[in-house]
Amino acid sequence: METLHDCETWSPERIRDHQLDLLRTQLTRLHGTSRHYRRRWDDLGWHPADLRDLDDLAALPVTDKAGYQQAIDDHPPYGDFLAVPREDIARLHFSSGTTGVPTPVAWTGRDLDRWADLYARAAYSQGVRPGDVYQCLFSFAWFVGGLGGTLGYTRLGATVIPAGSGDTERQLETIFRYGTTAVGGTPSFLLHLADRARDLGWSLADSAVEHVMVGGEPGGQVPATRALIEREWGARCYDGYGCLEFQPTAWECAAQAGGHLAEDFAYAEVVDPVTRTPVPDGEPGVLVLTHLDKQACPLVRWWTGDVVVRDRARCDCGRTHARLVGGVRGRADDMLVVRGVNVFPSAVENVVRRVVGDLAEFRIVIDPALADPATGYPTGLRLQVEAVAGGELRGRLAAALRADLAVRAVIDIVAPGELPRTTHKARRVVRAGEPDVPEVHRVP
Ligand SMILES: [Zn+2]
Repeated sequence: METLHDCETWSPERIRDHQLDLLRTQLTRLHGTSRHYRRRWDDLGWHPADLRDLDDLAALPVTDKAGYQQAIDDHPPYGDFLAVPREDIARLHFSSGTTGVPTPVAWTGRDLDRWADLYARAAYSQGVRPGDVYQCLFSFAWFVGGLGGTLGYTRLGATVIPAGSGDTERQLETIFRYGTTAVGGTPSFLLHLADRARDLGWSLADSAVEHVMVGGEPGGQVPATRALIEREWGARCYDGYGCLEFQPTAWECAAQAGGHLAEDFAYAEVVDPVTRTPVPDGEPGVLVLTHLDKQACPLVRWWTGDVVVRDRARCDCGRTHARLVGGVRGRADDMLVVRGVNVFPSAVENVVRRVVGDLAEFRIVIDPALADPATGYPTGLRLQVEAVAGGELRGRLAAALRADLAVRAVIDIVAPGELPRTTHKARRVVRAGEPDVPEVHRVP
């Protein structure tokens, strides 16, 4: 296979032209085949012919996890995102959430082929070559990590051992007995293996392993964690980033300077978590991704919720695709900023539970009526809380939020049962005026 793909060194202009071409084809196809997007775009009066430039994509609403899960609930078991007949689905993987029904993500045979190519490119860029022995230590059950790794390294021409993420001692024996040269796994499992090896009187630094690819959790680009993994394994450690829905998204090359985005696979936006306008390169923002050519269940403006920093400077390796430097910096949910003060949804939850009751249902509404017209940033929050009567509760809750969190809040008391329920994780932060945020009836 072609391991340093031609597209990895295209000029930024050529990448944008290519993305716009694919996006036009993709959105036109989705308008015809995806019930979900067709309905949402028709409701907006938007048509794929309206896409003249990549920036025009920002006119479309984002698709987030809560919306995806809701679609699965409304149209079980696949939701209404499928853009191919069910019998064309070659693979299903599932979210690893611990509550509710796991959400499926689908691939066609062509999607799997793309996936294998991307993973092979990642491994190649990290110095893995045909003949290397790759032991895959990602989990194979339900989730995407294990099979993605084995697909790509097989495509590259490595000898692949699909080992999974258990059987610690057998893993270690296999590494030494078969001369494993490359491994992939989560930072925590790789460090656990190193600990266990020491207990047994072995040192992984004496093994043949030279390439360690980590993913599935942050750590690969946390300097102290990376240094620890490299010392324990006596190998170079590379960070990979992907989510179930976009797999893989970005991976580090031999320069270890932040994961290169797969810009021929996904169109990436980095936006302010509140105003949702693009942030300049070098500043933190939420990664929003659009599939350029995925067939089975393509997503448009997928809100990853992950905060990243993009750098478009040319990398030492010669690849031109932008990099996400420093890996995932945090979750967008933790970045609600009101008048310069960080307000964490979990902190709001604590106050609501204390003042209203342990089982109180509530949501935070980002309301344009409570925003600075110049910057778009909120100057206060609207809080909708279920209770049997408003009255003095409104004042008590507002005062508690002001005292504890230094935030001004407008409180709407709504009748019990009024706020939408999902069988999954509650959706605590919504934006006023979004189609899936219905008006609620207030209690006097
Ligand atoms: Zn590079």
